[in-house]
Amino acid sequence: MRRILVTGGGSGIGRAIAQAFADDGDAVTISGRRMEALEETNGGRGMTCVACDVTEEAQVAALFEDPFDVVVANAGAGTPMKLRDMPLEQWQSIIDVNLTGTFLTFRAALQNMQKGGRLIAMASTASLQGGPNISAYVAAKHGVLGLVRALAQEVARDGITCNAVCPGFVDTPMGDAAAEGVAKRFGISQEEAVSRIVSGNPMRRMIEPAEVVAAVRFLASSEASMVNGHALSVSGGEI
Ligand code: NAD
Repeated sequence: MRRILVTGGGSGIGRAIAQAFADDGDAVTISGRRMEALEETNGGRGMTCVACDVTEEAQVAALFEDPFDVVVANAGAGTPMKLRDMPLEQWQSIIDVNLTGTFLTFRAALQNMQKGGRLIAMASTASLQGGPNISAYVAAKHGVLGLVRALAQEVARDGITCNAVCPGFVDTPMGDAAAEGVAKRFGISQEEAVSRIVSGNPMRRMIEPAEVVAAVRFLASSEASMVNGHALSVSGGEI
């Protein structure tokens, strides 16, 4: 039975990944800041739920007393704002959760990860292209992909792979918040905001969490043993 850790497992993409692996029969641990949300994800599937803020070094280290076979650094956040208006604290907190959180998670995972281990970062199309009003998020997610590409070369000789999944707009609480922000800024309905957001996507629709899960499942599989340092775009052709 594989041991799998998913950070930010209390909602959205992390919840879908954790539930899919648990339903496959893997031993899944989910971490996050709110225990109630983690218990909701678990829903009686026998997952281990651990309270952990990925920006807190000691809390992250404590997740890894025993080794994991697959570690999905999924926790992330971003609030849209023009760079010229952005307080340093907001910049810092977006870098902390997305980039430093991934660094802390992977570094701790590597203390005892065995041959065949899989490090998977939830990056974004924002790791591959820019966009207005999300500079801190774009900078952090580009950083995540840089970390993945460099680390992939460092761990290759240990038989470990490190890859990134890069989704476009996914139908999750974060996707909803992005649509709400656009609706408010332009005085349009939520529905119009969603169509505006997905207009850059050739498929013209939001991505389902299950479509991101499929990419994670592949990168975690033994079939993906020679896929290393890759940015797997799940964006309907946007990238
Ligand atoms: P979400 O808001 O539902 O999930 C993010 C999770 O991370 C939440 O459970 C949140 O509580 C957790 N989290 C935030 N800060 C944390 C911290 N400091 N410590 C621990 N947990 C923390 O959104 P989602 O869409 O499921 O996002 C999951 C990942 O996918 C994120 O890394 C996000 O950047 C990425 N992503 C999302 C989209 C999208 O459109 N939804 C697109 C591309 C990439």
